[in-house]
Amino acid sequence: MSTMRTVKVDGEARYDICIGPNLLGDSALLSHALRGRHALIVSDGNVAPLYADRVEATLRAARPTLSIACFVIPPGEQEKTLARFCEALDALAKLCATRDATVIALGGGVVGDLAGFAAACWMRGIDVVQLPTTLLAMVDSSVGGKTAVDLPAGKNLVGAFHPPRAVIADTTTLRTLPERELRAGLAEVVKYGAIFDAEFLTWLEHHADALLAGDDAALSEAIARSCQYKAEVVSRDPYEHGERALLNFGHTFGHAIEAAQGYAGAGSAALNHGEAVAVGMVLAARLSAALGLAHASDTHRLQALLQRLGLPTVIPAGLEPEALLDRMRLDKKAEAHGLRFVLWERAGLAKIVSGVPDERVLDVLRGR
Ligand code: ADP
Ligand code: ZN
Repeated sequence: MSTMRTVKVDGEARYDICIGPNLLGDSALLSHALRGRHALIVSDGNVAPLYADRVEATLRAARPTLSIACFVIPPGEQEKTLARFCEALDALAKLCATRDATVIALGGGVVGDLAGFAAACWMRGIDVVQLPTTLLAMVDSSVGGKTAVDLPAGKNLVGAFHPPRAVIADTTTLRTLPERELRAGLAEVVKYGAIFDAEFLTWLEHHADALLAGDDAALSEAIARSCQYKAEVVSRDPYEHGERALLNFGHTFGHAIEAAQGYAGAGSAALNHGEAVAVGMVLAARLSAALGLAHASDTHRLQALLQRLGLPTVIPAGLEPEALLDRMRLDKKAEAHGLRFVLWERAGLAKIVSGVPDERVLDVLRGR
């Protein structure tokens, strides 16, 4: 019996998200997703040694005449640059110099964003197939078509909407993912419950230990449900004119924390994206309560779940409230009169609120 689950993204772009164990070895699945006579596998220095050979062998088994090349970047967010993007295009030029190619993004969000953007731009756009290998990429960045690289001035400042041809999430790859990265991905999983479905939060409360232990069935269920929520939103609002913005719950605060600490990567003391979002969600919940939108009991519930998942829920020492507020004003979601936030009315029901007074935000940042 196959244990693969499929989530469909509909609307302007249509594609399948396939989730299950050992999918990188599934020749029929990979070759079905792949068009053209050439394939460029884009990966990073941690993931390529673990999985690139397998992907290549799987593709060769199905398509013996396919020409395949690999482009590997060093790991880390600091590599999501225009310079690496140009190198990826050079790799495509060397491989084929035609549109007859597919880019295969094998890795976490950094690789997915960079490879997706290269596919979006190469000869005005070729297919990208996303093979996410982090939980965060499986539940978030590989789905929905946002691709980008960073500039010194900020994250994701150059990019394009370029939906993938397919997303294939091999849950077995999560076994080699550092535990801290797994936890970071769980923060984005919790986010879906927080904004869309209190019942999913209850499910997460019941399965927290299984998820942390890397239990296949629990992880697959969490990924499939997360992808389902995201697929529904991006199907209805692919370009973030409206409700897609709800996915930014916790992110205005989270991005400010990340920016204030200088986007330090994994292994450092600084918070990674998922950790910053965990803190940001608690701050958003507290702001919701401070504005009289929601009950404080919902904040406590969210905080308890995140803590059980080993995620931080308070602002790291040394980050000043005023400095964080200034960062938020610079964020693209800032407006002339007060800031705009994704808040919630209760667990499972988020809404966008404009014109939030600076003083209320500062109170929350000061822990009052
Ligand atoms: P994210 O997906 O969280 O946005 P990255 O793309 O930076 O972030 O990936 C996080 C880190 O995990 C990187 O160092 C990357 O090389 C590493 N990594 C990704 N997938 C795996 C995996 N399946 N096994 C081991 N390490 C991985
Ligand atoms: Zn995020």
